[in-house]
Amino acid sequence: MTTNDRRTTASEALFDRARAVTPGGVNSPVRAFNAVGGTPRFIRSARGAWLTDVDGNEYVDLVCSWGAMLLGHAHPEVQEAVAAAVARGTSYGTPTEPEVELAEEIVRRTPVDRVRFVSSGTEATMSAIRLARGVTGRDVVVKFSGCYHGHVDSLLAAAGSGVATFALPGTPGVPASSTALTLVLPYNDRAAVAAAFAEHGDRIACLVTEAAPGNMGVVPPLPGFNAFLAETCAAHGALFVSDEVMTGFRASKLGQWGLDGATEGWRPDLTTFGKVMGGGLPAAAFGGRADLMSHLAPEGPVYQAGTLSGNPVATTAGLTTLRLATDEVYERISHVAGTLQTAAAKALTEAGVPHVVQATGTMFSVFFTGQPVRDFAAASTQDTAAYAAFFHAMLDAGVHLPPSAYEAWFLSSAHDDRAVETVLDALPAAAEAAAATRKAS
Ligand SMILES: *Cc1c(COP(=O)(O)O)cnc(C)c1O
Repeated sequence: MTTNDRRTTASEALFDRARAVTPGGVNSPVRAFNAVGGTPRFIRSARGAWLTDVDGNEYVDLVCSWGAMLLGHAHPEVQEAVAAAVARGTSYGTPTEPEVELAEEIVRRTPVDRVRFVSSGTEATMSAIRLARGVTGRDVVVKFSGCYHGHVDSLLAAAGSGVATFALPGTPGVPASSTALTLVLPYNDRAAVAAAFAEHGDRIACLVTEAAPGNMGVVPPLPGFNAFLAETCAAHGALFVSDEVMTGFRASKLGQWGLDGATEGWRPDLTTFGKVMGGGLPAAAFGGRADLMSHLAPEGPVYQAGTLSGNPVATTAGLTTLRLATDEVYERISHVAGTLQTAAAKALTEAGVPHVVQATGTMFSVFFTGQPVRDFAAASTQDTAAYAAFFHAMLDAGVHLPPSAYEAWFLSSAHDDRAVETVLDALPAAAEAAAATRKAS
């Protein structure tokens, strides 16, 4: 299909109806296309690497439900397992076998001894922080600018005026008292971490970080950075919370930890998971050392609960997905990721658009800036107008990228050669469209 064939009348009509009943017409802000303009595509169905919108247009999906769909959409075995689970009833509020099996699978594949299920990544990080505070009897939490951990009050924080200064609310609605115990530091900055711990070390309950940030685009930890964080926390009696909601079971079979901790010989005290482990249904988890997790109710005093936590349908989807996430799956995704990184860089170079491609394991993103991105300040130097033009040219050519320059491009094992060809064919004209915005300005 060419640009002119693509009609969006049905998406536009739904967007109008949606805006009349839902703020901004969406249930999570990035979906509204505010960063790129235009009408979000309302998706009717998806299979493998492909989305079909309500106007009948098809797109290669490079969002994959923000990383969740590791095996692609409507994978036949996941579909079958979920349908069978639904037929047995969708929620009982009692313990079930799939929860035990999924917990066993996660304990086998990650640096956690015990795991507790929740329904979203937000709940996972919120609960991990509560546990860290409960275990240590301390209040202060350290996080990095540009790392996203869900919409937890204390983590929607903007840096204070200096590295060892407490944070300010990052959004209206978060009281100053919620962020008054949060320190926000620049990512990959050892000196800032050392300074914050030197000044506040005996008050810090935990440091929480994305295992490899993917929510400002992909910013890999500099070599040894996660090990340094683990050591620094240990030296001050604080807990190291590694947020693998995005990277878990995606950056590699063992998540980001498989790319650093597993070989360097350290492990986080607590780890959070979500996205891939839910297989496209609402499921997430936090876990860690047995002695720490034993502080959780009902074993210990730190309260945490959830009506739909460990839901049998969601845990079945997650378990089936993880069992199918074999070495071959990661090899295929890695191969396609390499192909697309090379092709995107080539197209942008030929069009004269400054860019940087960064990756960790099978995860990558393309920054529309000329300098390497090691932290959020560098990510913020992107030419977002150039990205918007690039995004829309890709969309018109049948490729659905993330509708923001600050996101990873996600693949699945269902991205076959036809899907890859579609992306490769679309790149040169999209790069030219990005270049044209630069000439115009
Ligand atoms: C997506 C994400 C979250 C939040 O998960 P939700 O399920 O959207 O609440 C937390 N941390 C990271 C690293 C994420 O990528």
